[in-house]
Amino acid sequence: MAEWNPWHGCHKYSAGCLHCYVYRRDAKYELDASAVRKNAAFDLPVRRARDGSYKLKGPDEVFTCFTSDFFLDEADEWRPEAWRMMRARPDLHFFFITKRILRFREGLPEDWGEGYPNVSIGTTCENQAAADERMPYFLSLPIRQKTIVCEPMLEAVNLRPYLGPGIAQVVAGGESGEDARLMRCDWVRNLRSQCEAAGVPLWFKQTGARFENDGRIYRIPRRLQFSQARKSGFSWPGGAGRPEEEPR
Ligand code: SF4
Repeated sequence: MAEWNPWHGCHKYSAGCLHCYVYRRDAKYELDASAVRKNAAFDLPVRRARDGSYKLKGPDEVFTCFTSDFFLDEADEWRPEAWRMMRARPDLHFFFITKRILRFREGLPEDWGEGYPNVSIGTTCENQAAADERMPYFLSLPIRQKTIVCEPMLEAVNLRPYLGPGIAQVVAGGESGEDARLMRCDWVRNLRSQCEAAGVPLWFKQTGARFENDGRIYRIPRRLQFSQARKSGFSWPGGAGRPEEEPR
């Protein structure tokens, strides 16, 4: 999987943002993650090598905008160009996750139609309030492939009203970092039942740093969070998933 990060920096927006990994990483280098800036690699999808071929080779999946939010208001002036670059590369499949799906139509290209076939969008539902606020709108949008991202999962979430053929996948995962909030095994178990009943694949991606099972709380090192989730067998059907990305 390739990566394309057109801009960097963000503002905390909802409960899932409390321990945002972008803020944690920037703080290590004494940088201010709230200072939003366009990255030098902004035009990566259309950059060419000396022989005229694209530097980013297709076909490939491109994890997009992973240290910001694609629909951040400060990126309104850059987003039309970002859409144009995605449109120009039908051989690449762009995927990004947003908490600001309510801003989807800000700067949407006129030729978007039923959605560019090479763009998938994930919307975060870290708790029930976020699910109930974002999901009805998300479901109504013309997007070819939609993913629901319960990450960091902060409580049990009832997605039943929102699961159906319009959702390609549900992703679940805990929070990373020193101060990570707890994720409970029962929440994932319950999500799996919901997904199975609706016929929507669930990918239990990673446990997060603090995970409760059967009344015991485990502190799980980063290097084991993905493998422990895999071993749990909660993903449904087996093998659901994507390459391992940082949690949002
Ligand atoms: S990058 Fe994501 S998690 Fe971090 S502040 Fe922005 S929306 Fe929140």
